[in-house]
Amino acid sequence: MVRVRFAPSPTGSLHIGGGRTALFNWLYAKARGGKFILRIEDTDKERSKKEYLEEILFSLRWLGLDWDELYHQSERFVLYQEYAEQLLKEGKVYTEKSPEGKVAVIFKVTPQKIKIHDLIRGEIEFDAENIKDQVLIKSDGTPTYNFACVVDDAKMEITHVVRGDDHISNTPKQILLYQALGFKVPEFAHLPLILGKQGGRLSKRTGATAISEYRKSGYLAEALANYLLLLSWSPGANREVIDMQEAVRLFDIKDVTKTAATFDMDKLNWMNNQYLKNADTEALADEVIPALIENNLIPKEDFDRNYVVSLVKLFQARLTTLNDFPGWADFFFLKEVPMDPTAKEKFLTKDLSGEFRQFVQRLDALEKFEIVSIEEAFRVLVKELGVESKALIHPIRVALTGKTVGPGLFEVIYYLGRERTRERLLKWVA
Ligand code: GLU
Repeated sequence: MVRVRFAPSPTGSLHIGGGRTALFNWLYAKARGGKFILRIEDTDKERSKKEYLEEILFSLRWLGLDWDELYHQSERFVLYQEYAEQLLKEGKVYTEKSPEGKVAVIFKVTPQKIKIHDLIRGEIEFDAENIKDQVLIKSDGTPTYNFACVVDDAKMEITHVVRGDDHISNTPKQILLYQALGFKVPEFAHLPLILGKQGGRLSKRTGATAISEYRKSGYLAEALANYLLLLSWSPGANREVIDMQEAVRLFDIKDVTKTAATFDMDKLNWMNNQYLKNADTEALADEVIPALIENNLIPKEDFDRNYVVSLVKLFQARLTTLNDFPGWADFFFLKEVPMDPTAKEKFLTKDLSGEFRQFVQRLDALEKFEIVSIEEAFRVLVKELGVESKALIHPIRVALTGKTVGPGLFEVIYYLGRERTRERLLKWVA
C-alpha cells in the first residue's frame, strides 16, 4: 500500500511551496488508495511554535487535505535514541564530547557513489565523497533532521518520499542512513522549484505569502488548490480548471514536470474568478458577511441576509477575490454614495437635470418595478429624447454608485429600489 507523508516544521507558516508538496502527497495517496501521513518535524524546541503548528493544520484542512495519521517528532525522542544506540553497538557511529561533557552521536560516512531513480527526475547520481560525517544526535540530545526523518520514514512505512527539490542534497545522506540502519529505501520524487514570475526564488513580493494569507485575501480554497495543482502538473488537453476528485483519478507522480514552475499571480486571480463565478452564492455570502460587518456596511445583527445574498449573486461573476465585494458593493449599503472624484468629474459635470427628472418620473410610473420594466422605461426615454443610451447610462451609474464600473445598470437600480434611486438622481437636479 502506498504511504506518503508531508513533514512540515512548525517554525513558520505553510507557504505556497509547502502547500503544493502537501497537495501532491495527498493526491498521490488518494490516487493509489493509500495513506497520507502528516508528520510534524518539531525537534527544534526553540524555533517550533504552537501558533505555526495551528496555522499549518488549519491551512491544510482549509485546502481540503485531510490526513490519515498524525505524528509529532517531539514525542519520539526515545525512538531516535534507541536507533542511535543500535548504530553505536554496531560501530557505525562514534561519539564526541562537548567541553561541558555532553555527548553527540556522529555517523561515519564511507566514500561511495549513490544512485537513485527519482520518479520525476530519473537517474540521479551522488558522490558521497563530498559528504562529511553526519551528526545524528546533537549534544543537547535532539536528533538532526536527516536522522529523525529516516527513522520515521522507515518506522512509518513510507513507500514514497515526495518533497521539494530543495531537499535533494539530503537524499544521499538519508540513503546512507537507511543502509546503515538496515531499512528498506523508499522511492523518491523531488518536486521542481517554484519561481517568481520574474525568475528567482519565490519571495514575499512575488507571492510567497502564507496559505492563510490567501484565505484572508479572499481566495477560495478550491481555487488555490487547483492553482497549486497546475504548478508542475497538468490534467492534459489544455484543461486548467479541474476539481480535486477528477484530479485524483488522473494524477500520477510520474507525470509531474521536471522543470521549475512559475508562480503567476494573474493566473491565480483568473482561477479564483473561475471558482467564484460558479460558487454557491449562499456560501459566499456567509464568507463576506463578517467583512461587511467589519466595514460597517451592515449591522452586526438584524441585517437582511437575503439582500446580501442577492447582491453577492449580482457581483460574483466579476469578483477577483471575495475581498473585492465590500468595496465594489458599498453603495448598496451606505446612505451616502461614496463618490469617486474622477468618475464625478467625467460624467456628472454636465447638467442633466431634465433627463434625470424624467427618468425618475418614468420609474415612479412603473406598475411593476422589475429589471425588465426598468430597462424598457429607460430605452423608451432615450429614444424619445433622441440621445444615445451611453450618454445617460454612465452619468446615472455614477450618480447611483459613485463608480464607473459595476453590474448591469438596470439590476443596480432594481436592487437599490425606487426610493434610493430617486433620491440619488434628484441630488443632481438643479
Ligand atoms: N521538515 C522538512 C521541511 O519542512 C521536511 C523535509 C522532508 O519532507 O523530508 O522541509
